[in-house]
Amino acid sequence: MSEDCIFCSIVAGDIPGRVVSETETTLAFLDVNPLAPGHTLVVPKDHHARLGDLPDDVAADLFAEVHALAPRVEDAVDADATTIGINDGEAAGQEVPHVHAHIVPRFDGDGGGP
Ligand code: 5GP
Ligand code: ZN
Repeated sequence: MSEDCIFCSIVAGDIPGRVVSETETTLAFLDVNPLAPGHTLVVPKDHHARLGDLPDDVAADLFAEVHALAPRVEDAVDADATTIGINDGEAAGQEVPHVHAHIVPRFDGDGGGP
């Protein structure tokens, strides 16, 4: 855990998160500033800043959880499609330096994405 990391604090339960699902190594919770209804973030429970910092098994767990969850989120909000993305590094738009995958439900004609 990184002391001043907001996502580590959510994983630890020190600040509230609207948890969508949990595995041994990952946590999924709703984005506080959603781009669309159901916008979900999936994070490894351990603190790693960049995708390349993840051990292979944690990276596999993270993608497995995205794979399992994305269709469920899409169904839950009755969306038409899903955008999945990772902003890996500050210049790519990463604001929280704890690896996270975005699951963003998309709707016919919504005209934009992350
Ligand atoms: P990034 O730009 O790093 O890829 O995305 C960070 C995301 O984290 C943003 O979509 C932002 O709304 C979300 N976020 C930032 N702080 C919090 C928080 O305290 N709780 C939750 N649930 N999401 C947060
Ligand atoms: Zn962290």
